[in-house]
Order: sequence, then C-alpha cells, then structure tokens
Amino acid sequence: MPLATYQKKRKFKETPEPKGSKSKKHKRLLFVIHKHDATRLHYDFRLEMDGTLKSWAVPKGPSLNPQDKHLAIMVEDHPYEYRNFEGVIPEGNYGAGPVIIWDEGWYTARAETSNPEKELLKGLKEGHITIVMHGKKLKGEFALVRTSPQKNWLLIKKGDEYASEDDILKKDKSVRSNRKIEDL
Ligand code: MN
Repeated sequence: MPLATYQKKRKFKETPEPKGSKSKKHKRLLFVIHKHDATRLHYDFRLEMDGTLKSWAVPKGPSLNPQDKHLAIMVEDHPYEYRNFEGVIPEGNYGAGPVIIWDEGWYTARAETSNPEKELLKGLKEGHITIVMHGKKLKGEFALVRTSPQKNWLLIKKGDEYASEDDILKKDKSVRSNRKIEDL
C-alpha cells in the first residue's frame, strides 16, 4: 500500500502529523502502539514492514490473555516517522483527537529465518503472521489472523511466559513522555 492514501486523508498545513516517506533498511524492525482518543477511543497497532508502518486500529486494545481475540481493523500504511508522533490532531482533521505513544519497541517474526521481513510480508498476504514483541508493555508472541471482511484481523496473544490475565491497558501512560491521553 503506498503512502498516498495516508497523505490524501490529511491536511498537513493543519495537522502536526508527519507527511512522511519510506524508511531505509536498518537493523531492527520497530513497532509502535498509539492510544488515540478520536471519535472512539482505540489503539493503533503499527508494525514496520517494507519501510512503512503496517497499521491496524484495535478498538479494545491489545490483551495479554490468550483467550482474547480482539478485532484489529487494517487501515492505510503510515509513514515510518509516524512512530515518533505524539500530540493532538486538530478538530476538523482526519482522526481528530489526542494521541500518545502507548508502547514501542522492536519485533521480529517468530519463525527462524534469515529474512524476517520477507517472511512477515508473505504472512501479511496470506493473512496470518506470528511475531515476537520486545516492547516496554507488550512482550512475547502475538498473532494477527485475517478473518472477513478482508480488512478485519484478530490480534491474539500466544501462550508464553508473558501471557497474563492482568489488564495491560491499566498502564495508561505514554512510554515516551509519561503523559496520559487526558494530559494532552
Ligand atoms: Mn487511530
């Protein structure tokens, strides 16, 4: 998905969000999870792949409980620089409302492979990826599985040492600024 869809939806004279471009290759694949209080509060799950951030809106947010299958709606790719975005999207703009960096870190494909990114892009096409997350809040294995309609996926924690029934969403501060979404 090109960034054109992302760019078309936004008025860069008004919004503090980055216009963005594709990133160069670097050592680790990064992820960011935004908490975004737009029309409805949701979490945006963004995984770096192919120089952009593949993105899903997760209304209920991520869970550490492997019993939970939370809907994750695939949205347009976001620019790599978006991983640094925290702020308020002004009223009258797409996605208006405050955004914090709820979690961030690096991740990789669970499968042992010399080229995790290639493996992940293949999985994305096939509708099933399993990743290992190294975030401040989210750690261990997670799966994203496509259902129907095609933009609907499920975000599922895999059973491992990081699986838990604790509500991770209670940790509600930005991992960058320590602010809560209400503080913006
Ligand atoms: Mn959002």
